[in-house]
Amino acid sequence: MTQIKLLISDVDGVWTDGTFYKGSDGMEFKRFTVLDGVGIAMARAADLKIALISGRYSPATEHRAKELKIEDVYNGSLNKLPAYEALKEKYNLDDSEIAYIGDDLIDIPVMEKVGVPIAVANAAPEVKAIIKYTTKISGGYGAFREAVAWIIEEKGETDMVMQRMKEKVLNSQE
Ligand SMILES: [Mg+2]
Repeated sequence: MTQIKLLISDVDGVWTDGTFYKGSDGMEFKRFTVLDGVGIAMARAADLKIALISGRYSPATEHRAKELKIEDVYNGSLNKLPAYEALKEKYNLDDSEIAYIGDDLIDIPVMEKVGVPIAVANAAPEVKAIIKYTTKISGGYGAFREAVAWIIEEKGETDMVMQRMKEKVLNSQE
């Protein structure tokens, strides 16, 4: 656990509860939680890299990722392994240095490779059967933030990260 340098996240079912609204004009709406945005800030404070791999292309996902300035976003990769391999190569990491959080069957091939696979509380039973840790919180309600906090805690960095977060807020000009 102490060696984890990159946390890869699925989007639908993790950053959302899996549902989305679709208007008659095709416009799509998703409900994200600010809690997961805080999770991104915590990860940055811990020097933990974050990447998203979503199986289903969605402009709403793209927009949210841009807002949070997430650099590595694969939006519409049903087979997630090529994206996973590209990230591994980009950051020169071993499988053991990577964690992945997901909720359904298409996440399993990557989950079987990474050092720390994490399921959300609402994950499919087939996913829960192969993972090391299940969040208490469901996707769309801060499950991603919980996973980040758990990794930080396991690395013994909680105090350091809380201090950095506090300084960031106090020094903010916004
Ligand atoms: Mg999913």
